[in-house]
Amino acid sequence: MKRYRVKIEPEECKGCGRCVLACPRAILQMGKHLNEMGYTYVCAAKEGCIGCGSCFYQCPEPGAVTVYEITETEDRGA
Ligand code: SF4
Ligand code: SF4
Repeated sequence: MKRYRVKIEPEECKGCGRCVLACPRAILQMGKHLNEMGYTYVCAAKEGCIGCGSCFYQCPEPGAVTVYEITETEDRGA
């Protein structure tokens, strides 16, 4: 079964929260730190991403959200 992970680029995120609301698995949470622009950025709080892409499509900032399939190499922590 394919497994996925989401990555948020802190400096691209404007903290709008749309991805947090969009995620059906509650993977994403508003973080506690500010980026260099002064925005609170979102973090992936847990595993379990299903790769639906809702967060990616809701995000108004190109480059802030990446959803990718976990490879076996990455799974082993390499
Ligand atoms: S791809 Fe879907 S499940 Fe994964 S973090 Fe984004 S909205 Fe949540
Ligand atoms: S939708 Fe995009 S800009 Fe908005 S909080 Fe999520 S990652 Fe940041």
